[in-house]
Amino acid sequence: MPLLTPLPWSSAGGRDDAAAGRSGHLAPRCSNPECSTGWLHLWRRSVPVFEGGWCCSPACMRARVRTALERENDARRTSPESHRHRVPLGLAMLEQGWISAGDLRRALEAQRAAGAGRLGQWLVRNGSASEAMVTRGLGLQWNCPVLSLDAGDPQLLTAALPRLFVDALGALPLRIAAGRILYLGFEERLDAALALALERMLGLRVECGLLAEAGFRAAQERMLAAAFPPVELIEAASFSALGRVLSQTIERARCADARLVRVHDFFWLRLWHRRPSAGVPNLAEVSDLICAVGAGA
Ligand SMILES: [Zn+2]
Repeated sequence: MPLLTPLPWSSAGGRDDAAAGRSGHLAPRCSNPECSTGWLHLWRRSVPVFEGGWCCSPACMRARVRTALERENDARRTSPESHRHRVPLGLAMLEQGWISAGDLRRALEAQRAAGAGRLGQWLVRNGSASEAMVTRGLGLQWNCPVLSLDAGDPQLLTAALPRLFVDALGALPLRIAAGRILYLGFEERLDAALALALERMLGLRVECGLLAEAGFRAAQERMLAAAFPPVELIEAASFSALGRVLSQTIERARCADARLVRVHDFFWLRLWHRRPSAGVPNLAEVSDLICAVGAGA
């Protein structure tokens, strides 16, 4: 199943509509399935566009955004938030013979006594394992590769996602391979919900992996200091209020496209001010809106 509907300009769209209509190709109709006007794109405004579909009026845009919001909210129940059982890090490393039972016991005791810190940090602090080995152990635990920062430069990929997600979710976009795979690095645990959201937003396959802690922290700091697309953070009192805000934002921006995805408790709306293509856009081409719905909603 395609993750998003194809962009309208991939076949007939924009200024070519009139010609497309005359030659018998599709002149897109309003993308709101409930629309009763039957207006053809040919006769009406050409923007804004939402998720590849054009809408004949603000009312139709509101209906489409509401449907998208319901879709994202329903997906919460079937989301890939992983609660699968994982082998504890200490046991995974013990099984590999990378640490001894005594090393593990000492680290667990130190962790318990301190009431803080991750097991991997205590193993490193006690001199039982190197940081690289702990990262490899986490890779075994999460069944994912250990990625290297050498071949990537997160600062060049700040337009891939809002700054908030780099900061709060500890995700670093590393590089794009073959124009279609985005490598996404995490420090301690993978975030499948964020990876899926990025796949849908960018039209790229996202491969997740872990990064060694020290390298991750330094690269994250550098990335957070770089420029990101403009972002607005809002909290809406209810889902219907959120729907109104989102459709008003889209109408005001007269955007070439917009997409909505959910990342945990946030709804992320991205606006493209120019015709989008697959992959990471230029900084000036997009802006983001990150929304939460109030607890009482
Ligand atoms: Zn319509």
